[in-house]
Amino acid sequence: MPGAPKTAKPFDLCAGHPALDFVNSLDNRFRADGPLELLADYRDLLRFMVQSKLLGTQQVRVLAKSVDQDAAARALQSARELREATAAALYGSVDRRPPPPPDIRALERHFLGAARHQELQWEPSLENANGRPGIAWRWGRFESEPELPVWMLAQAASDLMTSRDLGRVRTCGAETCRWLFLDTSKNHTRRWCNMKICGNRMKARRFQARLDEGISR
Ligand SMILES: [Zn+2]
Repeated sequence: MPGAPKTAKPFDLCAGHPALDFVNSLDNRFRADGPLELLADYRDLLRFMVQSKLLGTQQVRVLAKSVDQDAAARALQSARELREATAAALYGSVDRRPPPPPDIRALERHFLGAARHQELQWEPSLENANGRPGIAWRWGRFESEPELPVWMLAQAASDLMTSRDLGRVRTCGAETCRWLFLDTSKNHTRRWCNMKICGNRMKARRFQARLDEGISR
């Protein structure tokens, strides 16, 4: 398994949807001094999956053990491609600007990839059918494939982008942040990705601006 063990900072999963948290894993996306990559290696991607509760620690342990260095590098590359195409489509939706056509094609490839790597299984008890048995799409035999995280994230992105929730995707009000989140507040008034970070920073800035105004008057 590539990548030396390290104690990495946990992801700030404040977006309310794994596809949005995933996009936010390229931090400072719009800053002039360049973005900060939080998915530096495959291990980070696995960490993200566990923290997002898309994969269990046992599943991740199996992947971490079985995936070789080349496959891990390819999967990471693929994940970043998916993430950037997802970002282009979501920011395009928020800003009402169409994303570049290659990003749409990339999303199409990833969504089809996710669909191709699920199998139809008979389940004895389905949660969304009052516990009745029925069929459901499962990852099944693809669960130990290096690309499993990419397919799962593609499915999450596809679910979000083709649902009504797309209309609730917003960007953080801090210009240097612009992280995505799902606004589930009652009056659709959520402004910050994370009140503790961006909300307080902007409050402090406004306070400072008022002070400055007072001084210059
Ligand atoms: Zn923010």
